[in-house]
Amino acid sequence: MKDTFGGTWETHKYPGVRSDSDLYTFGYRFKPWVGTPIASGQAILDYMGEVIEENGIAPHIRYGHRITKASWDSKANLWTVEAVRASNGAAVTFTANFLWMCQGYYDHEKPHIPDWPGMDSYKGRFIHAQLWDPSIDYSGKRILVIGSGATAATVIPAFAEKAAHVTMLQRSPTYFYCSENKNELADRLREIGIDEPTIHRVVRAQIMHDGGRLSGRALKEPDVVFEELKTLVRKFTGVEDFSFEPHFTPKYRVWQQRLAFCPEGDIFKAAVAGKLTVMTDTLETFTEKGVRTSSGEEIEADIIVAATGFNMLMMGGIPFYVDGKEVDWHETVNYRGMMFTGVPNMVWVMGYFRASWTLRVDMLGDFVCNLLNHMDKKGAKRVDVALRAEDRAMQLLDWIEADNFNPGYLMRGIKLLPKRGDKPEWRHNQDYWTERHEIPATDLDGEEFVYDCVDAKQRQTEPV
Ligand SMILES: Cc1cc2nc3c(=O)[nH]c(=O)nc-3n(C[C@H](O)[C@H](O)[C@H](O)COP(=O)(O)OP(=O)(O)OC[C@H]3O[C@@H](n4cnc5c(N)ncnc54)[C@H](O)[C@@H]3O)c2cc1C
Repeated sequence: MKDTFGGTWETHKYPGVRSDSDLYTFGYRFKPWVGTPIASGQAILDYMGEVIEENGIAPHIRYGHRITKASWDSKANLWTVEAVRASNGAAVTFTANFLWMCQGYYDHEKPHIPDWPGMDSYKGRFIHAQLWDPSIDYSGKRILVIGSGATAATVIPAFAEKAAHVTMLQRSPTYFYCSENKNELADRLREIGIDEPTIHRVVRAQIMHDGGRLSGRALKEPDVVFEELKTLVRKFTGVEDFSFEPHFTPKYRVWQQRLAFCPEGDIFKAAVAGKLTVMTDTLETFTEKGVRTSSGEEIEADIIVAATGFNMLMMGGIPFYVDGKEVDWHETVNYRGMMFTGVPNMVWVMGYFRASWTLRVDMLGDFVCNLLNHMDKKGAKRVDVALRAEDRAMQLLDWIEADNFNPGYLMRGIKLLPKRGDKPEWRHNQDYWTERHEIPATDLDGEEFVYDCVDAKQRQTEPV
């Protein structure tokens, strides 16, 4: 669709845009990361550009094509993918034996903007962070940011540097994890002359190990973890009696949503410096000069930035057909969040939300290669996943447990997503520390994989 690489990192152009995972784990396992752990959008794009160049990938990428339809034909064992070329509007068709869907999880063009009353009456500038135009001058302006997630956490400290004042209006608070933007182990290994590939491997392992521990502790002892998060805020702001009630005490458990990373405690420092006012309230209506909240507060602003998240999109909004019948993803059951019953020769990439998204992408890369090699060895033209006899009575549920991980965009889009069962094979469990063992150990001859080794041409000539 886009005219260049980068996906998320090309779409988002708001001030301060950066990762909230460390790049040792968010980066490729084969390409050492040498910058600060949390990286700017531009640094990530530069890194991706190097990967494309160093591996000669550019000639294999067709930019500027919007995929409009994908159809599987069981007689030919073939996917036909239809697209429109942006440069001249031409209809283009591609065919493939196997489809690997890497379309991300949200609509890159239409972010989630709630339908607030009175929006038309507002005379200032309203924009969603996803659609931010870098030419907007916000120096000396009063800015209202609506939202409290990772985007708000990123954009607010950046706005606070030049704006007259920033107000953050949140419906409910978020957990923040404050840390210096450096990795001491990496710095030490560099200092003693260890080569970058080794540093990358070791620091990646360290971060995954520590992340796993934190994740486990957040489940077992959420209150202790919250106290530790508070201690970090006190450390970075230097304010011993920093008040966490009511604006920084979330209603959900630590880790039910991604922790918002806060390098050097920047958002808290902005609050302490008086550059940021946080309000926990509901937006009742827009007014000419800003917004009014349910409790009657009037907030005036020159620019209102909605940091209200994404619109979830299943398969990039592309309609899928199998033998002429449109696929309703909510009617399919997902195999480990990567394949679907009734949809042959296709793997879907959905990464992690709690760990770096790309840790899963790396693993699925290996999985797809193993699967394709396995199919070659068997002479199989088609692979399906199917419920085994022991799975038939299994209760089918929504894709993810709302009490496990429940960010707004997932809950809004849950009916677009496939179903899950209650066994590990039929769940997308979002737990890297389990999947790192389970996925590489997949038995590709397990009963849940159904192969068709009959050549399509041969089948076509067989009597019906
Ligand atoms: C601001 C921001 C910061 C983030 N930070 C982190 C982080 O630090 N760590 C982390 O793990 N995750 C982070 N995420 C989540 C992030 O989206 C993923 O980690 C990762 O970038 C997803 O990569 P992707 O290639 O799978 O999908 P995307 O980056 O979403 O790219 C999908 C691509 O597919 C294209 N596409 C979709 N539909 C079609 C179609 N019909 N036709 C043609 N092309 C299509 C899109 O145009 C896009 O180029 C962040 C997300 C955002 C928005």
